[in-house]
Amino acid sequence: MGLLTTGRPLGWWDAQPHLDYVREHGIEQFVNVFCATRDRQGDVLKWGDEIEYTLLVLNESERCTYLSLRAPQVIQELQSEERLVSRNSLADVQERVTGESELSEFDSAPVPETLWRPEYANWMVEGTPGVPYSCYMRDLVLVEQNMALRRAQIRRVLRPNERLLSLTAYPLLGCGRFCEPAGDGVCGPLARSLYLPDAVINPHPRFGTLTRNIRLRRGEPVAIHVPLYRDKSTPSEIPLWEGGSRHGGVVDIDLHQIVDEKLAKTSLSQDNTDQDVGSVRIDEAVQRQRLAWSLSQASGDTELVLVPIEAPSVDGPERPVALDAQHDGLGYLCEKAGLASWNERNRDGRHTSPDIYMDAMGFGMGLCCLQITLQAANMDEGRYLYDQLAVLAPVMLALTAATPALRGFLTDTDVRWSIISASVDDRTALERALGCPPKSRYSSIDCFISNRPEMKAALYNDIPVLVDARAYRRLREAGVDEHLARHVAHLFIRDPLVIFDDFATVDDRVSLTHFENIQSTNWNTVRFKPPSQTGPNTSAGWRTEFRSMELQITDFENAAFTVFMVLLSRCILAFGMNLYIPISKHDENLVTAHQRDAVRQGKFWFRKHIFSREAELSCSVRCHYRCACGSEHCVSFQSLNAGSPAGSQSSPSQSCPFRFCTDPDPEAMELMTIDEIMNGKPCCEKHAFRKAYPGLLTLVRVYLDAIPGLDRATRMRLGAYLDFVAARSSGRLLTCAAWMREFILKHPSYRHDSKVTPEACYDLIQRCIELSEGRCGEPALLGDFWPEHHIDGELTSHDFSKLRNQIHEEDSPQLRGESFREELLPAAASRILETVSISARTHAGVAEHHHDQHARHRGCDYHQAHGVDERQRRHHRGAGALGRFQEARHQADQHL
Ligand code: ADP
Ligand code: MG
Ligand code: MG
Repeated sequence: MGLLTTGRPLGWWDAQPHLDYVREHGIEQFVNVFCATRDRQGDVLKWGDEIEYTLLVLNESERCTYLSLRAPQVIQELQSEERLVSRNSLADVQERVTGESELSEFDSAPVPETLWRPEYANWMVEGTPGVPYSCYMRDLVLVEQNMALRRAQIRRVLRPNERLLSLTAYPLLGCGRFCEPAGDGVCGPLARSLYLPDAVINPHPRFGTLTRNIRLRRGEPVAIHVPLYRDKSTPSEIPLWEGGSRHGGVVDIDLHQIVDEKLAKTSLSQDNTDQDVGSVRIDEAVQRQRLAWSLSQASGDTELVLVPIEAPSVDGPERPVALDAQHDGLGYLCEKAGLASWNERNRDGRHTSPDIYMDAMGFGMGLCCLQITLQAANMDEGRYLYDQLAVLAPVMLALTAATPALRGFLTDTDVRWSIISASVDDRTALERALGCPPKSRYSSIDCFISNRPEMKAALYNDIPVLVDARAYRRLREAGVDEHLARHVAHLFIRDPLVIFDDFATVDDRVSLTHFENIQSTNWNTVRFKPPSQTGPNTSAGWRTEFRSMELQITDFENAAFTVFMVLLSRCILAFGMNLYIPISKHDENLVTAHQRDAVRQGKFWFRKHIFSREAELSCSVRCHYRCACGSEHCVSFQSLNAGSPAGSQSSPSQSCPFRFCTDPDPEAMELMTIDEIMNGKPCCEKHAFRKAYPGLLTLVRVYLDAIPGLDRATRMRLGAYLDFVAARSSGRLLTCAAWMREFILKHPSYRHDSKVTPEACYDLIQRCIELSEGRCGEPALLGDFWPEHHIDGELTSHDFSKLRNQIHEEDSPQLRGESFREELLPAAASRILETVSISARTHAGVAEHHHDQHARHRGCDYHQAHGVDERQRRHHRGAGALGRFQEARHQADQHL
């Protein structure tokens, strides 16, 4: 979870006088790094994934599972390898391995092949590759190997009854005694949760302080409401204790703790009475001048308009309440949870919620995800990627959905995002009521940041963005351009939540501590990371982090989504793609992504013209064909402006080399299913041919086909990943969420009441463990891809180092971006044309057809390239695409 600092964190009231100090210095630190690195060029692609693993205890005799709270000890043990190399600085080692230095240098140096970090909850272990992957095609096949290594390493330090899973959401979190050890007390001083004991929070002071300070800033415990999945016997309302029976139905709010919090306010205490605890007077005046709405100008090159806001944005902390725990406690809880009026209506003495109610940061930050960080060649490229990947975040969230049950109930949503968002929403009641700020700190992005003139980002920044006006002015004064200044000043509307007591000793010229304090608690779908001047990763350049994906059960799935995103990022650069839609539409997409089964049912705003800079290409191809609808269609790929200079003013519809779309509106959008976005949308829709769109997977395949010298094994392995992603996108394979939901619904213990029984949870977890270990398959979820793809054997760091070093020795082709465009585009146009016309001809609403055509088509290339005769070819075709991929995988495995 980003930044971890040592030192003693200040209590919320003690931190108050220093909030502006941190903000001011954070901005200075950003300005310094910006000035030092704005012109930094030529960083090679480096990238890495992050996976949060869940530790469990399995009680086989009682057939029940618990979350194991032993992550801190487990991480200690896992870090032993890293500690060995701490003599050399980690940064040094990483630089040597991924930099230009000669092989012999790092042959002898020990390199940790995995890194382990604590995460919010004590059942979570974050694992990343020890050194980021580099820019070779063959690095893409290392990902799954490294994930397998991580799994093996964790397994080695677990106790016999402990297991690990890459699981987004544990279904019984917060239900009765759900963790081991049980942890004591409810309403602990940190979270004050009725369901989660504070013992679940990682002991690093950052995590507890975050929890407590979010609650104190907000003025009450966080309140998460998730729609309940309705089955035929689902009760219309859930007693607040359902699934939370550990406390026997008694709300035990410890008044002493509240008094302690009040007394802990030392530095402001002299002149304040009890009453004053409820008003942050010192801040109000400052707050009033601090924030402003910034309105984007359509032209994009004029200064933002700042509209100062009048309303105070802080309305006070949680007030001490005198409660009779036995009688008033539930009433108090209901009020804080926004359930008071609901319960007024039910005057039968029971306290209920119409949805799944959760009350602690751990319910959100205890959910696990898959993140990917990509280093850009320079700041401009990083910003371009940030914007493009942001648009894809809701789509990938829906596609990787893995959150079907929470706090013991089936949810009517499939993904985690809004749950985490509510779990760290530190806005006060007034701020929420005013919509100022409009969103939680954990949210989708609010503005695009690219400055590329042909991309016209300003056109898509269609909602006012709240900024810290002083930060904005300072950034502009220091030469930061408008888009970036707005983005950073928007991050800085938030209060720093954790200030350590040594905060004033930081040197702004070399440190990014205060900047990171704010940046790392703006949890957005994408994050733009500046180069760090000091610390463990000094060699890193401008980076973009993609943060929306949910975690899958097997390494194969996680590797597939990782590889897809990395390849897609290269396509975005190489094809010069333009995926912009307005921020307001992007927000709608994020809402759609939460719908149950969004991957099959949801329709997402997506752009019709997805290429920019078309004029660079001179290319003209036409294809007439008879489509399934019976009509003759024509797809043309023609650059009307062929040869005109790059960046000319022509609209995409006039200059697009791939004229799938002849909509005259260059910015046109339409609603598409995930299948269409990923696998393509045929030309013919109601006999109109003007809407053809190739699909992101087609572009990635075309990109791969155009890479010269890509070895067959790698190509086939990557092909299997893409086919798997295609099958999930088309709905042919279930998402993790859909599969788990079905598992629970079909479990013999299920009573059609939306409850996840402990028996169902146990069996589900067991099944997930078997799957993750490659001991079984699950055709509905994984098709034939698994366990065929499982990497057998217990990998060691040493084995992995050998694989990694081999890549450098082999001189595998590189993952190229913009530099590839000249070579890629001419080859791509006719390949895409073929693919699109094939899909249009065969499209009859059956995704498999499409999928198979792709596979067969690629198979032909493969056979031609490798001299396979017609008889063999027919044999392969008969065996189907999957069979061929299995064969290829086998070859790939041998290769590895
Ligand atoms: P955070 O938690 O803030 O996102 P981490 O350090 O946990 O940051 O994760 C960083 C990720 O970035 C890891 O996957 C790591 O492999 C990867 N990474 C490290 N250095 C670079 C780099 N120079 N360029 C791109 N990715 C990198
Ligand atoms: Mg991390
Ligand atoms: Mg991260």
